[in-house]
Amino acid sequence: MAEPRSEPILRVRGLVKHYPLTRGVLFRRQVGAVRAVDGVDFDLAGGETLGVVGESGCGKSTVARLLCSLERPTAGEIRYRGEDVATLSGRALKAVRRNIQMVFQDPYTSLNPRMTVGDIVGEPFEIHPEAAPKGDRRRRVRELLDVVGLNPEYVNRYPHQFSGGQRQRIGIARGLALRPEIIVADEPVSALDVSVQAQVINLMERLQDEFDLSYVFIAHDLSVVRHISDRVAVMYLGRVVETGTDEEIYDHATHPYTQALLSAVPAPDPEGRERRERIVLTGDVPSPADVPSGCRFRTRCFKARERCAREVPALAVPERFRGAGGPAAHDSACLFAEERRTPA
Ligand code: ADP
Ligand code: MG
Repeated sequence: MAEPRSEPILRVRGLVKHYPLTRGVLFRRQVGAVRAVDGVDFDLAGGETLGVVGESGCGKSTVARLLCSLERPTAGEIRYRGEDVATLSGRALKAVRRNIQMVFQDPYTSLNPRMTVGDIVGEPFEIHPEAAPKGDRRRRVRELLDVVGLNPEYVNRYPHQFSGGQRQRIGIARGLALRPEIIVADEPVSALDVSVQAQVINLMERLQDEFDLSYVFIAHDLSVVRHISDRVAVMYLGRVVETGTDEEIYDHATHPYTQALLSAVPAPDPEGRERRERIVLTGDVPSPADVPSGCRFRTRCFKARERCAREVPALAVPERFRGAGGPAAHDSACLFAEERRTPA
């Protein structure tokens, strides 16, 4: 495997989160496991945006909570600047948490309606008092509001007095308060009107430059992350099935699942629109408590062959498809990825 030239800021390997599946009310017994995240690998380089995409239920929010240490993984590694976050506790864990902050999906439910905007944005300073002296917090909060494009005079207002887009700006200001290195944004625009989505994405891009941030930007749709991502990881049923640079994913996808997702996205150029055929996936996503053998996508794959039921495809392509140095330019967890590769 080609190793990146410089150490990524975040390196995720074999990440697993299983939830026990229980039956019975009086005598609860474990009858299985929900494999919410089932072996996820990816790297995040400093200053870049990794778009994470996949249908509802594929494990995106669970990955987000694991990255922010809101939950502990069942297995696997999350290395932040070389240190395995999953093994940390106490002050060391707190220090990492400070540097990896989350922006939540729904600005309508993630902001406490009884707290003023100033208290919401300043709350991280209560949890990490070392981040700002008490006498300076009020000023910092006003500054944060200004930075995300809200009037600092609004500090004493309540969330219900703001629109959806403004509320997400409040959530972003809170995420920025501790000056983190990484922001994990879990579908930050999914709950917003399409007209407001672009404004919030533009804001996040500006903040990325201004504060030198790295983003893990989660969405359920490839068209949302297209503009903001440097690289994209496509998830299916708890795993990354394809990952690569923007160009590789949007122009040379080799995994049938990615190809199906792409076929639903309007192509930016008229030529591409003609070339692209709509692929409609049949059947439902299997339950993460009952994952198919071999390739977990095979039950819905329009290109499945007999081998797919027997072999678990690894997230890799032959060496000759790799760019020199840097994170792998393109990895696909399909046994037949190689045959499907279109020339660059
Ligand atoms: P996504 O964000 O992609 O929609 P989630 O990470 O929320 O997916 O969920 C992945 C799977 O894990 C789903 O089947 C969901 O029901 C299950 N799941 C998530 N959190 C829990 C939990 N705390 N206990 C049990 N199952 C869970
Ligand atoms: Mg989710």
